[in-house]
This record gives sequence, structure tokens and C-alpha cells, in this order.
Amino acid sequence: DMRKKIIAGNWKMNLGVGEGYRLAGEILRMLGKRKDNDKGVILCTPYIHLKGVSDILNGSGMGTGAQNCSDKIDGALTGEISATMILSTGAQWVIIGHSERRTLFGEDDALLFRKTNAALDAGLSVIFCCGEVLNEREKGIHFETVRRQLTDGLFGLPATKFGKVVIAYEPVWAIGSGITASPAQAQEMHRFIRKLIAEAYNEPTAGNTTILYGGSCKSSNAAELFAGADVDGGLIGGASLKATEFCAIVGSLK
Ligand code: PEP
Repeated sequence: DMRKKIIAGNWKMNLGVGEGYRLAGEILRMLGKRKDNDKGVILCTPYIHLKGVSDILNGSGMGTGAQNCSDKIDGALTGEISATMILSTGAQWVIIGHSERRTLFGEDDALLFRKTNAALDAGLSVIFCCGEVLNEREKGIHFETVRRQLTDGLFGLPATKFGKVVIAYEPVWAIGSGITASPAQAQEMHRFIRKLIAEAYNEPTAGNTTILYGGSCKSSNAAELFAGADVDGGLIGGASLKATEFCAIVGSLK
């Protein structure tokens, strides 16, 4: 399989612009120029940091992304940001369907499908998030939740477009909670997701799709989480705000 290993940082709504530029600069110094392009490092910043951070990382092999985008092309949508605008900053990526967008901003599967299409049409690659809440895992319906999120939010894409999608499995109970999924729980769900991709598309597509784990991943637990055969890296929230911590996580991805 040719799938790429990726560590993506999600800064969420943190850091002033100057602080963000400083963090990006520190990470760049620590990781250096990344000649081996088989391990991708992506910083997903707030919109207002994106041009500056993209300029700082330009030529480094590291990528940048937004954390959300509009499902619309342009127009009278005060406060919204389109996928084309994101691309114009030099960014290559956008996170779609993060659990905070789903829960706090009421984004449903149909809207996330439209956003994913808008992003891909504009030329961005997508990190598409899925994952169950605690109550769903306790009831044993976590596989059904993830199946629905992917079927309704993503698998309507034609195969050609799906090739530019990375999936992030983020159990909601593990996000920002300090509780990670066990390596076995992560691997079990990642394997299930790969099977769903094979059913929706085909085996080669499934084998070539990068599937990230997210949820309280830090340098002390990253290596054991990434050891899973179907775990191709991580989406990192809190731990992406400290350069040493984030770079140690990058270093633990083999
Ligand atoms: C996230 O929000 O994508 C995430 C994984 O957060 P944290 O690492 O802080 O749990």
C-alpha cells in the first residue's frame, strides 16, 4: 500500500497571530526541511494565521490547513471563508467534520458532504473527521455511528475525488479529555473504517487511504497508538500547541 503517514496539528481557537508564527517557526527549526515526503506534517491554524504560517513553511515540505470552510463558493455570507480563499493563502488542506463543528455548530452529515465537495472542487485536500460520543460507545453502537458518518458525509464522493481525502477517527470522549482510546480500540475502529472504504470503493483505494487517530494523543502515548497496522498517524489538538511535544509526536511515527 502506498498510503502516506501524516501528523496534523489542530490549533483550534488558540494563539494570537504572532504566537502562531513563533510556534510554526519553532516547529520548522526542530523538524528541519523534510526531504522525505513520505511522512507529512500539517499545521491546521485559525484562518487569520494561515497565510503567514504558509509563508513561513513554504518550501519546507510541511503543509498547512484550515479547520473549517464554507460549503458555498462566494457571495453575501458575512464572516464565512470559502475553500478557494483558503487555497489562496498557500494552504493545501482543510479539516471537515471535526466533532466540535458537529456538536457546537450543528453541522450535520449532509452539510459536511457539501463542504467536502466544495473543498475538493477548489483543489484542497480534506481531513474528514468521524467518531462516536461516549454514550454511543457504552451502548455498543460506535461502529454504526462511524458507518453513518462516513456513508452520509463522505462515500457519496466519486472515487477520483475520494483519493484526496484523509480520514481522522476521533472518539469524542477522547478529545481534550486526557483519556485516549486504547491502542486496541483505535486499531479495531481503523480496521473497520478501512473495510468500509473497501466496500464503498475497492480494496486498493482502502489500502491507499490514510487514517489518522485523534483524541488526547501526546508524546507519551503516540508510539503505541501509531503501532496499529491501520493507524497511519495522528490528528493532534492540545499537544500541537507546544513545539517540543508536537515534534516528539512526529518523531514517534515510524
Ligand atoms: C482534536 O481536537 O482534533 C484533538 C485530537 O484534540 P486533543 O488532541 O486535544 O484531544
